[in-house]
Amino acid sequence: MSASSRAFAPRALVALLALLALLCLASCQSPSRVNELVLRSASELAISPAMTHELAARGTRTIVLRVEDRDESAELAAAARAIRAAKLRLGYWLEVARSPSLANAEPELMASLQGHEEWRTKVADAPEPDVDEVVKVWPWVPILTREGYDAQLARLRARLALLPPADELWLSGLQGAPSACGCGHPLCRWAADYHLRDARHPTRIPSGTPHGPDAAARFVEAVRALAPQAEVIPVWVAECAEDDALCHGVPCYEGRCWPALAEQWAPVVAISERAAVLIPSRSVGLPVDAARVQRELASLARIERRNAPRVAIDPQRLIAVVEEPLELTGAHVVAECELEQSWEPRIWPR
Ligand SMILES: [Zn+2]
Repeated sequence: MSASSRAFAPRALVALLALLALLCLASCQSPSRVNELVLRSASELAISPAMTHELAARGTRTIVLRVEDRDESAELAAAARAIRAAKLRLGYWLEVARSPSLANAEPELMASLQGHEEWRTKVADAPEPDVDEVVKVWPWVPILTREGYDAQLARLRARLALLPPADELWLSGLQGAPSACGCGHPLCRWAADYHLRDARHPTRIPSGTPHGPDAAARFVEAVRALAPQAEVIPVWVAECAEDDALCHGVPCYEGRCWPALAEQWAPVVAISERAAVLIPSRSVGLPVDAARVQRELASLARIERRNAPRVAIDPQRLIAVVEEPLELTGAHVVAECELEQSWEPRIWPR
């Protein structure tokens, strides 16, 4: 070896080490920008079949496919195969409560509005029920009644039979319908037939038989039994915040909402290693930033309320689901497709 090549070797080594250090620094500085989990619709993937490979190249590890009523099974199956071909993990986002097909087929099972009337301030031409009628929340069929639970489980079982097996099943819509107590808050989800006895509602008109506060936890177990090879990840929507002013004067936050939520949520986290928290923004017209995401996660990780079960879990077990890209440090999913949360009041006879 010549003198000059002996001198070159350490210089090349130093340059190589510097390059490696730079590469490491670049990758270590941007972990929050790597979106390992994305939620997509099958139709978007069908338009651009190379998208799964592009997502894999940018660091995505799991693609969760939205499975709402509007998503065709054949298209979902094709998208699932494309995800597998890109060597990615496959998940399904199964919308449970909101189902136009079930609501139209069995309208009596839809959640009802028989409590507070403040939701009317947000709805133009809100229908007025007669004494023998009730206002239903189309198209939400919660699993909080035995009949709704059975119908939704049958619907899910039929859908899963048409799809390739997944690694993860994300169960969204394990709570009640929006504006559950009648306050009009899009995140108020704690009841199916909340009832206030008054001239308008002398007696409750139930949408089914109340199924107990652990209905969501039992539903998670039932779906696990349907697909034992998959991880079932329950998705929860946080209730109202103390200062968000979206309950339109109804004192929900200090009322029944959070204790009732805790009764349903505590058994869910008790049986789930990981759970997700959906923080809707676009779909419900609410602003979102990283601070709100942290607040919502913290509010579900620790609940200490009078007359409610205590919840105290490591927030790391919670995966945030957001509808727009945010600089988040913890595990999170960005929904790069629309997640429908809308509802409309419809009259239904007793
Ligand atoms: Zn409410």
